Amino acid sequence: MRRIHDHIMGMTMTEQQHEVPAVPERLKRAGLRPTRQRLALAALLFDHGHRHVTAEQLHGEADRRAIKVSLATIYNTLHQFTTAGLLREVVIEPGRSYFDTNTDDHHHFYVEGIGQLVDIPADSVSLASLPTPPEGTAISRVDVIIRIGPAQA
Ligand SMILES: [Zn+2]
Repeated sequence: MRRIHDHIMGMTMTEQQHEVPAVPERLKRAGLRPTRQRLALAALLFDHGHRHVTAEQLHGEADRRAIKVSLATIYNTLHQFTTAGLLREVVIEPGRSYFDTNTDDHHHFYVEGIGQLVDIPADSVSLASLPTPPEGTAISRVDVIIRIGPAQA
């Protein structure tokens, strides 16, 4: 009986670890060496639930925690994490990208003026028709960004 209990507990542990692996494991699985710098940035990104962050915001957070890292390194790391599937890049306009820790399919409200992204569940948006992509290409995913501002009185 004891052995069965241990077995079940062991399975549960393994399943939990599989669902939410520790950051070093997530980096290794993505083929990224878990350097101290990457781990420090990953902790800022992933330790407090889902969020949307710009390179500049992350740079500011690192600075406040005395993590010495250049903005160029922040950009490189964010793009490496994105390529590895740990983040999703949301491009608002050329030169303005947010990095989303929620990589599941979903859409966004963009609050203009404040510059904030708010998640919209994937099933809250339905598209009646999509254009045919240019020859030789296929649609890889559809991201909807709905730009919002204060309601007019
Ligand atoms: Zn999002």
